[in-house]
Amino acid sequence: MNDCLFCKIIKGEIPSSKVYEDDSILAFKDINPQAPVHILIIPKEHYDSVDALTEETAPIVGKIMLVAKQLAAEFHLDNGYRLVTNIGENGGQTVKHLHFHLVGGVKLSEKMN
Ligand code: AMP
Ligand code: ZN
Repeated sequence: MNDCLFCKIIKGEIPSSKVYEDDSILAFKDINPQAPVHILIIPKEHYDSVDALTEETAPIVGKIMLVAKQLAAEFHLDNGYRLVTNIGENGGQTVKHLHFHLVGGVKLSEKMN
């Protein structure tokens, strides 16, 4: 997607603070962190959100979970962390490129809304 912010980050057209990269996944620090550790993990392939996934493409989410686990260990989130993906308007999604927030480093609120 030409006008997608995260696709531009993947292409290096917009700078980011990368913490992980492989053939299919990129992870970088959120520009507006909500906790001491706040990392975004995204597929290099553009999908608008979880809603755009199919049986064929959904395995990317499993790979993202494993990257999240690895990053949680690297960032010493030994007491736990949260993985969140927002979907659509009511879900609070502002960037329409599938992404998972890895949030931790502090005791997080129990509220989910
Ligand atoms: P969401 O609201 O779930 O769509 O999350 C989008 C996230 O992208 C927000 O937490 C923003 O702070 C973050 N964000 C927006 N622009 C950038 C950027 N250029 N680099 C890193 N994170 C960004
Ligand atoms: Zn994109």
